[in-house]
Amino acid sequence: MRKIDIFDTTLRDGEQSAGINLNTAEKLEIARQLEKFGATIIEAGFPASSPGDFEAVQKIANAVKKSTVTGLARAMKSDIETSWEALRGAEQPHLHVFLATSPIHMEYKLQKTPDQVVEIAVEAVKYARKFFPQVQWSAEDAFRSDREFLVRIINQVIAAGASVINIPDTVGYATPQEYGALFKFLKENVTGIDKVKLSAHCHDDLGFAVANSIAAIENGADQVEGTINGIGERAGNAALEEIAVALHIRKDYYGLETGINLHEIKRTSQLVSQLTGVVIQPNKAIVGKNAFAHESGIHQDGYLKNRGTYEIITPELIGGKTEPLALGKHSGRHAFSDRAISMGFDLSADKLNEAFVEFKKLADRKKEITEDDLFVLFTDQQIQTNDVPVYKFTDVQVQYATANVPSATVTAVNPDGKTVTATATGSGSVEAIFNTLEILVEGEVHILDYRVTSIGKGRDALGEAVVNLSINGEVSIGRDVAQDVLGASAKAYFNAINRQLVKKHSQTKVSTAQRV
Ligand SMILES: [Zn+2]
Repeated sequence: MRKIDIFDTTLRDGEQSAGINLNTAEKLEIARQLEKFGATIIEAGFPASSPGDFEAVQKIANAVKKSTVTGLARAMKSDIETSWEALRGAEQPHLHVFLATSPIHMEYKLQKTPDQVVEIAVEAVKYARKFFPQVQWSAEDAFRSDREFLVRIINQVIAAGASVINIPDTVGYATPQEYGALFKFLKENVTGIDKVKLSAHCHDDLGFAVANSIAAIENGADQVEGTINGIGERAGNAALEEIAVALHIRKDYYGLETGINLHEIKRTSQLVSQLTGVVIQPNKAIVGKNAFAHESGIHQDGYLKNRGTYEIITPELIGGKTEPLALGKHSGRHAFSDRAISMGFDLSADKLNEAFVEFKKLADRKKEITEDDLFVLFTDQQIQTNDVPVYKFTDVQVQYATANVPSATVTAVNPDGKTVTATATGSGSVEAIFNTLEILVEGEVHILDYRVTSIGKGRDALGEAVVNLSINGEVSIGRDVAQDVLGASAKAYFNAINRQLVKKHSQTKVSTAQRV
């Protein structure tokens, strides 16, 4: 059966979207999960874009073994050299180098003639091949490029040593028929096209990203690029879980395989949503909360008689139904640590101890602990980093009565290690907390968005708070999960502030090193 490579760019194109700010520990956690998910290639970042990206790509390249790890580079020597430093430890070092080929990009962005663009692309691929055994070349804005020019430049970069050619619809403008036809045209007109893999990269501006990717596959693409939950610039990228499940469910029609471990879909989707703070729309195909809910009476009746009447995909297929947990407040450390291992977590003894303490606290308050709860708990421990001084939340007290103005008092330890306390009022409890935090935290903070959702079911379910704010003009998303939503809200606020502190710290640390 023909195999389609799945190229995941959640950590590069996905991470590029507004407000997402993952730290290295979180990126590593997502990369490990993408490896379990079975991505053929993981694009871990853009090493030359920032020291933080460099560090994350390097750690991922060294940690991930089953998937190929790649990084993005502009067609310039310094980017290629920086990427090599980040990726040289990978099992199969792979580079993704790109250059724009559409008239509008060449004229206004690059300010180069088509001849110059061909020369720069060829030089970049040749230079990259000095270091990397595998080089993928992307024609940025390929869909809006002149076809004859595309043929010419692709011929030359193949001759220069590229082994994958990516044809992105960077601005999400193509229709499925047109995008498919472009692949067919290139298959028929580029010399040596059979020696390389063709790749599709689609954006969802018109809602066509997944359909366009499938059209490309039907017309000769060997690889599709996309992200988990379809996150990404503007309307996002093609959702990889949708492509993988579509090709699986309609194997009878497409006759293709992807190598994706479908049972890991739900967990991968949840992890990406939790760590990026990007909520999944309830009716989203495959991973939305309602994707398997049958509401209408007629549907329910049919479904109960035979699931196949209205269900083409089972929740079990994507790992949606998990084993009942035999863990409760009387469970011992041993059973708890076994469960962490069976769920695929690799926690140090210290982190496992801390997770166990949190688990006992939760078990005291919550009747039934689900695997979702444990997943949140273990993930939270796994992504803790203690190397940058940040704000540490200590306590929040809220006074609320229907007739009175709510007030909040928050105590925290600031990055200098001092305990600080402040009190403020607001028109509601949450606003009172945020007003208090604005006094506590240094810098100018504006709240852009705030949400609370429940994780799991029932009145004692965990609440997840997501705060999207700007501090001194930098946008940041913070999140926290707790049984009490007010505490979670305060902690999510600190989380967003701390992310910016960590980001600043990693940048200054490396730039000082460079000066030395
Ligand atoms: Zn893109």
